[in-house]
Amino acid sequence: MPRRRIPPSMGSKSKGDKLEKRRKSAIAELRYSGIEIDPASSHERVLRACYERYGRTLNLKPAASKSHLLGYYSAVSRWKGALKRGKLKPPSPKKAKPDDEINPNAFYRSYEWRQLRYSILLKYGRRCMCCGQTPAHGVTMHVDHIKSLRKNWDLRLDADNLQVLCEVCNHGKGNSDETDWRNA
Ligand SMILES: [Zn+2]
Repeated sequence: MPRRRIPPSMGSKSKGDKLEKRRKSAIAELRYSGIEIDPASSHERVLRACYERYGRTLNLKPAASKSHLLGYYSAVSRWKGALKRGKLKPPSPKKAKPDDEINPNAFYRSYEWRQLRYSILLKYGRRCMCCGQTPAHGVTMHVDHIKSLRKNWDLRLDADNLQVLCEVCNHGKGNSDETDWRNA
């Protein structure tokens, strides 16, 4: 039986094949350690997740070459080995953001706010304290910080700093007006 010559290109794996193998095994590793990641994730996503796992930041150039990507994967496997041998400290858990950091978006999503907001609507009813409109007029009700949230962050959960306004009045009032419409 005549032996077929194997073309040299098939003997050694191409960089593309190597990369794909690295990507798949990194995804398997991540999933094994409880990190959910889509099997179709790009190299960049996979590498970013791996780097985060070892407490590193990935600064990937926009058009990273295959050699670059392989280099990044090599770093990941070096850390994995070092961690196993006890020569790499596991990344310290991310520090929680201090509670008093001004972050209105996160604040408005918090359960504490939503609970307080709801209690204010229950207390005063769904009627704008400024113009008297209600949802029946097609307006959206807001619970407004009388003294603005940004400038008075410590009052963000103070029930005495809250009033019911419609969206239009609240928008018009803005951040600098501090009119208390509750007894007006
Ligand atoms: Zn209004």
